[in-house]
Amino acid sequence: MNLDDYRGVWVFIEQNDGKIEGVSLELLGAGRKLADKLQVPLSGFLLGEGIRNLAQQVIAYGADQVYLIDHPVLKHYRTESYMKGVITIAEHYKPEIILYGATPNGKDLASAVATDLNTGLTADTTMLDVDLDSRLLEASRPAFGGNIMATILCKKHRPQMATVRPKVMKALVPDTNRAGKIIEEEISLKEEEMRTKVLQIVNDVTKKTNLADAHVIVCGGKGMGDLQNFQLIHEFAETIGASVGGTRDVVEAGWLPHEQQVGQTGETVTPKIYFAIGISGAIQHVVGMKNSELIIAINKDPNAPIFDVATFGIVGDAMEIVPRLIEQFKSLRIEKGGELSYA
Ligand SMILES: Cc1cc2nc3c(=O)[nH]c(=O)nc-3n(C[C@H](O)[C@H](O)[C@H](O)COP(=O)(O)OP(=O)(O)OC[C@H]3O[C@@H](n4cnc5c(N)ncnc54)[C@H](O)[C@@H]3O)c2cc1C
Repeated sequence: MNLDDYRGVWVFIEQNDGKIEGVSLELLGAGRKLADKLQVPLSGFLLGEGIRNLAQQVIAYGADQVYLIDHPVLKHYRTESYMKGVITIAEHYKPEIILYGATPNGKDLASAVATDLNTGLTADTTMLDVDLDSRLLEASRPAFGGNIMATILCKKHRPQMATVRPKVMKALVPDTNRAGKIIEEEISLKEEEMRTKVLQIVNDVTKKTNLADAHVIVCGGKGMGDLQNFQLIHEFAETIGASVGGTRDVVEAGWLPHEQQVGQTGETVTPKIYFAIGISGAIQHVVGMKNSELIIAINKDPNAPIFDVATFGIVGDAMEIVPRLIEQFKSLRIEKGGELSYA
């Protein structure tokens, strides 16, 4: 394999029912930085049926060009058909880097493509950079139970590939005046040759707490002491119109369900305001909330690592501070005549 034959940064643009997943737009932002550093084009690749209208959006979010395969067999995601599409264009154009969202479909596709192209894949990356001399992608992620950050390189194979979880990278502000190239590719796909069929799509209609989209989150940790004290977190969140989150220790104690866990093995969140109350700031927690716009930490230990990522810190006992915050915000609400606004 001649590594110099491979040039350019690509992002898998995942779409479902004609709507681009947010993580793909975030990856265009991250990919833009890598491509600029390497002085190569940034390309999005988009597969599906009836998806030509999405290409301009990909360009607005930072791509120089879009590879597009529009085919009825690609209407719904299936490993076999999507893998064939990606491999066909990747073998032809030879990108040096491919990024995928760490969604169920993105992870499935990336691992299948890595196996077929006999290349490496770093999963759940939280930081991306490139070394200019070697042109190596530096894909970093927590390792060994989160005790260290490992930077993983793919030295001998191309393309270098990584998956990145939603909300870890930042999308660029879209520029609808950006111009780019749309390259439509033809591939031969036959429905009768597919080993899997999509018979029915059943949407999950269970009510979910959508922490990932919350503007304000009050997150409580083990420092709240017990389930009864944890009610203060719910009361405070309700007072200020916030969503409730917790650390893994809180979830393991049964104070909150797993879908409200923030961190490496829970949700990645980027609210405008994040309250971290009675939380030590372990790396596995911090990777899931460090990109919040404003972080307010309350902890009785002045040396707690959470203060390293906090915008404001309050050193003290949460059992005294939170009731006072509730009282203050209740008065503020009355003053403002009802709800608080975070616009
Ligand atoms: C593979 C792996 C994945 C993981 N994934 C996650 C994850 O997704 N999310 C996650 O959160 N964790 C995760 N963890 C666990 C993580 O390592 C920590 O154990 C966890 O985040 C600690 O939770 P905590 O901050 O609530 O508790 P602790 O670390 O026990 O911290 C409690 C804090 O509360 C403070 N405190 C105590 N009493 C008070 C009081 N009265 N007032 C104010 N402050 C007080 C203490 O000073 C302390 O800093 C993972 C671990 C591993 C190994």
